[in-house]
This record gives sequence, structure tokens and C-alpha cells, in this order.
Amino acid sequence: MLRAALIRLSQEDRIGRALERSAAGRALAARFVAGPGHAEAVATAQRLSDIGCSAALALLGEEVVEPAAAEAATEEYLALIHAINAPDDQLDARIAVKPSLLGLPISFETAREHLTAIIEAAAIAELWVEIDMEGSPVVDDTLALYRGAAQRSERTAVALQAYLRRTPEDIAGLVEEEIARVRLVKGAYSEPRDLALQDAQRIRRAYRGALEQLSSTPALASNSWVGVATHDPRLHRAARRLFREREVPPAAWEFQMLYGVRPQLREELVEGGERVRISAPYGERWYPYFIRRIAERPANALFALRSVVGM
Ligand SMILES: Cc1cc2nc3c(=O)[nH]c(=O)nc-3n(C[C@H](O)[C@H](O)[C@H](O)COP(=O)(O)OP(=O)(O)OC[C@H]3O[C@@H](n4cnc5c(N)ncnc54)[C@H](O)[C@@H]3O)c2cc1C
Repeated sequence: MLRAALIRLSQEDRIGRALERSAAGRALAARFVAGPGHAEAVATAQRLSDIGCSAALALLGEEVVEPAAAEAATEEYLALIHAINAPDDQLDARIAVKPSLLGLPISFETAREHLTAIIEAAAIAELWVEIDMEGSPVVDDTLALYRGAAQRSERTAVALQAYLRRTPEDIAGLVEEEIARVRLVKGAYSEPRDLALQDAQRIRRAYRGALEQLSSTPALASNSWVGVATHDPRLHRAARRLFREREVPPAAWEFQMLYGVRPQLREELVEGGERVRISAPYGERWYPYFIRRIAERPANALFALRSVVGM
């Protein structure tokens, strides 16, 4: 219930904008956000590289309904692509995008056009682009955007949410089309029971099932890739066991975590020789993202407050 209430709060635009503008708000968000611009994001990727992690950089912002804002976000992504390659073309940093930031609420065509510009620039720069998955009403559109992107570049992937009842079927479709490059997450939105599992154990079981599907023989035979994007050590163990048993090549999968979440676990994984990518968002529109992180672990609110008031 608290989670659903927090996720509703994350959609309160007026509260969000006020907090985003305040110095205290920015200090609150600093744990989870790399900084205001792409220079700070790339510097964060560099720091992550120094401690043995790769990065996925994402511009914050969602639910864009103004064409100019979708355009501006696309321009910013093009600048980010340039900035990633500029200092050091060895930096392993991908980019991650939300279709709703590229104007999906305006029209599918708007988002497709902007995403295509990003995919093409990233392909030239030999960078991967991962497409985030948002709420259930946009899953079909997001998968259609991914299918279009996958035709243009093999350096593309899409997030799928284990809590959605439809996900096994979506995975089967991508496996059959030989484009099963999937960042697997549990799911961060508030969804109705008929569409999404609600119970943590069942979501974990569904996640394991999705890992089984993604590492099955037909999936592996294709040009596939899996991002195990969870902070759940039980699922880490399951993935590690399964992928080793099935001899999935190390380059075909990795762990992914969010910037600022469970740093000690990240260190343990790196020390254990695992490949770990950290998803680091940047930008000024951090409020909805920040509240979703609080919804995942309400104790984060206290942690963030402490860091502001110096307790
Ligand atoms: C790289 C990455 C990309 C993602 N992309 C998407 C996406 O595109 N679409 C989408 O819907 N969701 C996305 N998510 C979020 C995901 O759906 C979950 O909401 C989130 O990962 C929490 O689930 P969990 O399995 O990590 O951890 P849980 O099962 O919630 O918890 C496991 C452990 O991690 C700790 N933990 C979990 N979250 C936090 C936190 N915020 N702060 C501190 N500790 C925490 C818990 O306390 C617990 O100890 C992404 C997650 C990651 C890691």
C-alpha cells in the first residue's frame, strides 16, 4: 500500500518541480543521481570504470507532452553520445532511454523518430542503447520501438518486467525473432493484479523463469544478451548458477545495478570477478525516479534526509 501511494506521489508534477528546484531537494537526490549534465554523467562513468564497473547513462525525465521537450531530450542524448566517446573511447558506457521522454505520450511516431536518431548516432559511435520499460499501457509500443531499433543496430536491448503476466510470451516472441537482448527487471510501477504479480515470492519465481527462458538453447543460439538487473542476491545466485550450467558466454550476460543502491553488494560482485554495470541517471528531472527508489525501500527516505541535515 505504501509502495502504491509513493508511486502515485511520483506522478505529482507540481510537488516534483518544486522539489527539483530546491537546493535541499537536489541534495536529497544526490545519492541516486550522477549530476545535472552529461559532463557529470561521463565523469561518473569514468569513476565507475576505475572501480571495475561499466555504466549505463540515462537522461532523467518522462511523460513528455511538449514536442520541443522531446526534441531537447534527443539533442541531449546526441551530446551524451559524443561526450562518452570524446575523452576515452575505451569507456564502457551504454545509454538508456525512456520512450516517454522521447515523446511517446505525443505519438508513437514522435518517439520512433527521436529514438531512430539516437540509435543511428549510437551505432556510429559503437555504443549500445537500452530501452527502459515503463508502465503497462506502453509495453506494446515500447516493444514495437525496440523491434524497429533492433533492425537498425544489434547494439540494442529492451527492459522487460518479471512482474508482468505477459512477459513470458514477450520473451518467447523476442527469442523467436532472434533479438532477445533483454535487461530483466522485477518492475517498478504500480500495476493492477490482473496484469502483474503482486507478491514478492511469485515475482522472484517469475524472474527465475524468465532467466530460464532467456538462457534456453534457442535464445542462446541467437544474437542474445541478458542484463540481470536486480539487487536481489538470491536472483544473483540463480543467474550465476544457471548461466554457468548452460555455458552462456561471459560477454552475453552481466549484472546491472542502480547508482547509489547497495554499494557493498556491488563491491562484493566486482571482487568476485562478476561483470557489473551501474545504471546512472543524470539531469534536472529526478523527482519521479527518486520517489520510485524510495518506494522500493522506504528507509531510503530517512537516509536521504540524514544526508541533507547532517545527522
Ligand atoms: C539497472 C536497472 C535498471 C532498471 N530498469 C527498469 C526499467 O526499465 N523498468 C522498470 O520498471 N524497472 C526498472 N528497474 C527497477 C526494478 O524494476 C526494481 O524496481 C528494482 O530493481 C528493485 O527490485 P530489486 O529486485 O532490485 O530489489 P528488491 O527485491 O526490491 O530488494 C532486494 C534487495 O535490494 C535492496 N534494494 C532494492 N531497491 C533498493 C533501493 N532503491 N535502495 C536501496 N536498497 C534497495 C532491498 O532492500 C533488498 O535488500 C531497474 C533496476 C535496475 C537495477
